[in-house]
Amino acid sequence: MRKIEKKSNYLDGWPTKNNELIKGDFFVTTVGAWSSEINDDYKNKIYPIRGQIIRYPKSEIKLDKILYSKNFYLLQRKCGSILAGSTIENVGFDKTVTAKAANELNEKAINLVPELRNFKPCKQWAGLRPGVKGNIPFIEQDNNYKNVYINSGHYRYGITMAPKSANEVLKLIEDK
Ligand SMILES: Cc1cc2nc3c(=O)[nH]c(=O)nc-3n(C[C@H](O)[C@H](O)[C@H](O)COP(=O)(O)OP(=O)(O)OC[C@H]3O[C@@H](n4cnc5c(N)ncnc54)[C@H](O)[C@@H]3O)c2cc1C
Repeated sequence: MRKIEKKSNYLDGWPTKNNELIKGDFFVTTVGAWSSEINDDYKNKIYPIRGQIIRYPKSEIKLDKILYSKNFYLLQRKCGSILAGSTIENVGFDKTVTAKAANELNEKAINLVPELRNFKPCKQWAGLRPGVKGNIPFIEQDNNYKNVYINSGHYRYGITMAPKSANEVLKLIEDK
């Protein structure tokens, strides 16, 4: 989606990057860390926070629960592989993975489960969380367009909060 120009208080179509117009009665923007790129109102309010994570291959190690300590967690997927995450980095729109982060995560993982020292992480990746001050997402109507809403800024908890957040947006729209 492209940034919208605020020319009236009702939006009947949102332009895509391919210059198509997506028509609709209501629009909800859910572009996470990129929210300020399509709506100036969220400049410096929603910003990217990089999170890197590593994965260990399936092994004989069994975790019967998620282990958590000092902002760091280890969890086992059903397939047996173990995830160790994650970093919290204010580096802008940069999804690069770094050796420094891999080493730090590996060290923390070994501290929690020493047997992990026998395994090399087989994968590393990074994502950009939509950071917000105070950790409170924006679920609200646009300042200008009466039929545009935002549901963004869920920082570290967007997956957990998705069902409730979607309900909150729906309530706002239904109240109209
Ligand atoms: C390493 C890591 C671990 C995490 N672990 C957890 C966890 O265990 N539990 C949890 O609840 N949360 C977790 N999170 C946080 C969670 O991923 C986010 O809170 C969530 O993804 C935010 O959802 P969103 O839909 O707002 O944004 P996103 O998931 O970032 O989705 C936004 C989408 O919009 C697209 N987009 C951007 N600009 C445009 C545009 N102009 N037009 C169209 N599309 C666009 C992007 O490509 C992207 O696909 C984790 C995040 C990271 C990085």
